[in-house]
Amino acid sequence: MTAHDASRAAASRLREAGVPEPTASAEVLLSELLGARRGDLRFRREPLSREQSKAYEAMISRRLDREPVQRILGYAYFRNLRLSLGEEVLIPRADTESVVEAALERIDLRDGACRVLDLGTGSGAIALAIADERPACEVHASDVSEAALRIARRNAELNLDRSERVAFHRADLVSGLEALAGDVDLLVSNPPYVASAALAGLAPEVRDWDPPLALDGGPDGLDLYRRLLAETACLLKPGAEVVLEVGDGQAKEVLCIGESAGLRRVGARPDLTGTLRAVILEKKGS
Ligand code: GLN
Repeated sequence: MTAHDASRAAASRLREAGVPEPTASAEVLLSELLGARRGDLRFRREPLSREQSKAYEAMISRRLDREPVQRILGYAYFRNLRLSLGEEVLIPRADTESVVEAALERIDLRDGACRVLDLGTGSGAIALAIADERPACEVHASDVSEAALRIARRNAELNLDRSERVAFHRADLVSGLEALAGDVDLLVSNPPYVASAALAGLAPEVRDWDPPLALDGGPDGLDLYRRLLAETACLLKPGAEVVLEVGDGQAKEVLCIGESAGLRRVGARPDLTGTLRAVILEKKGS
């Protein structure tokens, strides 16, 4: 069977089983397996080898179990990075790229050389993208999970020329970040923000494969914003800014939580679909 025929057959099996994005799943898995560009698959006329067919079949059966394509591959693309994954970290989302854009804009407005902290870094997506795209920044990344930090450190080695530009900290919110007290210019975070009762209703790709620690935001989904905005003020320089990813419809409430914590609201920024995805707050007194 040619690559083209194999991916079409796989796509129809996925479609019949009700798996979302069947064609993209089938094509991305096969093109990554063959080291080919997705658009070139249909020009590949040579048959797949036995090993390739077997490996592809194994991938498709995992996808039939609703395992996300990135977990099957073991990596995900994010901005200019290829991030390796593990079961302990959330798959970086396209939505979060707009949070990085909001952070980069704030950095540029502050003349570029900032001390940045990505709190709850997971795979390292936000911290590494900022280090990669704004080399003048001093980037710090923290996570409560030692396993996540191992993955993030590895991603720094795999993706950055000088991986030492990102400093990693094991910390439960501020506890563990005492060394940064009063020194942070920009705090970025994508905290867990799904309401606990909504977890069961998420797509199987998220519910069964992303770590609950990275998703569960408590009864109304906003617990981590309350804690984070109340507790991290001591890390921020006067005039420092905070850029937070928020779930659909949460921007207004998170801005209010920030104001109750004594911050000034700067604004909110949409993602590619037009949903407000990043909120921006500022510590008073610059
Ligand atoms: N964006 C994630 C989702 O798909 C949630 C991530 C988070 O809670 N920070 O549900």
